[in-house]
Amino acid sequence: MNIDVPRHIVSLDKILPSEPLLMMGAGPVPIPHRVAQANSIVINHVGQTMSQIIEQVKDMSRYVFQTHSQHILGVAGPGSAAMEMAIVNLIEPSSTVVSICNGFFSSRLAEMAERINAQVERINVPDGQPVDLAVVAAYLEKHQPKTLTMVQGETSSTVYNGNIRQICNLARQYNTQVIVDAVCTLSTMPLKMDKWGVDAVITGGQKGLASIPGVSLVAFSTNAWERIESRPDRLHHWCLDAKLADKFWNKKSYHYTAPVSGILALHEALRLICHETLRVRFERHLRCSKALQAGIEALGLELFIPEEIRLNSVVGIVVPNGVDSATLLDNMRRRYRVEISGSFGPPIVRIGQMGEQSRSHNLFRTLHALGSSIKTMGVNVDVPGGVAKLESTLESFEQD
Ligand SMILES: *Cc1c(COP(=O)(O)O)cnc(C)c1O
Repeated sequence: MNIDVPRHIVSLDKILPSEPLLMMGAGPVPIPHRVAQANSIVINHVGQTMSQIIEQVKDMSRYVFQTHSQHILGVAGPGSAAMEMAIVNLIEPSSTVVSICNGFFSSRLAEMAERINAQVERINVPDGQPVDLAVVAAYLEKHQPKTLTMVQGETSSTVYNGNIRQICNLARQYNTQVIVDAVCTLSTMPLKMDKWGVDAVITGGQKGLASIPGVSLVAFSTNAWERIESRPDRLHHWCLDAKLADKFWNKKSYHYTAPVSGILALHEALRLICHETLRVRFERHLRCSKALQAGIEALGLELFIPEEIRLNSVVGIVVPNGVDSATLLDNMRRRYRVEISGSFGPPIVRIGQMGEQSRSHNLFRTLHALGSSIKTMGVNVDVPGGVAKLESTLESFEQD
């Protein structure tokens, strides 16, 4: 029996909206034109041209991660593949891990460790609360883990862990290596890998870096690399084996065919970050996110997380009583061509502030779309008041 040509297939232009939606959710984020252009090119995955590009990607990554480490590796895959690469290479089966869990992604790190049969001790932090350093110290003392995992920004609950440095200081006393997921935060707020003593930092393409999904990065410290090199066992994972990936990323040889177009896109995304400089980029993200938050509150809406531990890269907004969040998102899409995100659990919707999302013209459009859509759903929000507050807050930063 032959299988017939499917007759119902239509071309993409019939599926995609004629005008792209403004992507203001928790990722993927809009990509700059140069990144899109680079992503349209295919080159040989080995050879002179590729080597030069890889060297530059690593040099720029060292700046973005703030590390001198020689162990920057790319991975063909989502942010989760980079998470798994850090986990499976650094954590030996049956070794003990402490995982600080503030939501969906930090718990994913714990689950990945469990799946390779590590002994995982979770610190479950309730939404809206910071992780208590005394609790972390007690877990380290009690369990003497070889590894601790955490996120810098928990995209799902919109919590920010601002105490990576203190946690690394504690961990060092127990020879515990620290893995930090910086998928949504890297290049949007400070992360100093070497200075803070982080052993592995993970990022994806489609969030803080404002590249495409599907190519991700991991940076291992010298310490972490020593642990990887000295492991006696052979990894169950072939694609994610850091020693094999090192052949391509550092030894100009072959592991698997690298996602060349995606690496070119990443190169451009990193180059734009270097051009902007981290200092200016952090300021832009802070100003835009704070102004957006002020605008949302001036609409009369409530932010989900208290200011001290609120993530700026992804802002969580409490959905008002009587509003169905799926209908709200749908209204924003249909009427205003703005896409924001729903939730993985908490009663919130989420607006991203990563890369091109942190531009004032995108903020005005998104805040207006949010306010107007909620208003048409019967909840009285102050749209002009919100927009005015957004403007005045943006201006107040400019005068600083
Ligand atoms: C999105 C995200 C991930 C997972 O990235 P994928 O590319 O979806 O696999 C991991 N951690 C954080 C903090 C994220 O925001």
